[in-house]
Amino acid sequence: MQEQVIGIMGAMPEEIDGVILLLENPIESTIGKRTYVSGTINDIATVVVFSRWGKVAAAATVSTLIHKFNITHLLFTGVAGAVHPDLNIGDIVIAKRLVQHDMDARPLMERHEIPLLGKTFFDSDAMLLDVTSTAVSEIIARNVLHERIGESELRHFSIADPKMILGDIGSGDQFFAQHEQKENLHSRLPTILCVEMEGAAVAQVCYENDMPFSIIRTISDTADDNSHIDFPAFITNIASKYAVEIISTIYRLL
Ligand code: SAH
Repeated sequence: MQEQVIGIMGAMPEEIDGVILLLENPIESTIGKRTYVSGTINDIATVVVFSRWGKVAAAATVSTLIHKFNITHLLFTGVAGAVHPDLNIGDIVIAKRLVQHDMDARPLMERHEIPLLGKTFFDSDAMLLDVTSTAVSEIIARNVLHERIGESELRHFSIADPKMILGDIGSGDQFFAQHEQKENLHSRLPTILCVEMEGAAVAQVCYENDMPFSIIRTISDTADDNSHIDFPAFITNIASKYAVEIISTIYRLL
């Protein structure tokens, strides 16, 4: 049987920089404008890479992980804009299913359906979903984020009691910064919890290659015009720490 090789993609360089520090014996290789860093975490072979932004960039990156680095599992961390009204900044969404909200090949097929696959939603791997949700529940239960990030920083972003929600994530090549975008999306795809720009593209490539995957997103903004948070500061001070905690806890459970 092939040995386990875990691919870790992050949608923010700051998140990935922290995860790279978890690697033992890191070796860098550059392919197609991306730097893949291979090494081990807890003796498990691992390759870490910044996905870049958008569906095409993320699809190209995961393809390279699959075909050049022979990964056996894929984990993706990043940030996302909240669509569901119960989601607050700092909450964590783990995808049960992912959908490309900007796919529209009507009248040839239903809106959002992926051509030739006859599928609209891509399911996360059940085993990885179990491991990632257990890891995130543990982090929340042990108040790890409060310890690692500090109260004043959390207060600055109005993060009090982060929670985890499992459900549907929508991906598309659009940054949501207007309330109308959210309303329009909600009317078409009412189960979507949050939006981002890579997850469902990664999910499609994984589906096409029988690759188990899990996608984990920290809510960075409310995906509308009220979203006045300091995005770069959120990434540096909050999301990057979430990513390192989430990944290291997952490895303890594997
Ligand atoms: N840091 C960049 C922006 C990155 S693009 C800059 O400041 O210029 C946004 C990234 O965050 C993508 O990886 C996307 O998946 C995610 N994201 C966060 N909030 C989002 C939103 N409201 N709409 C779409 N994508 C969002």
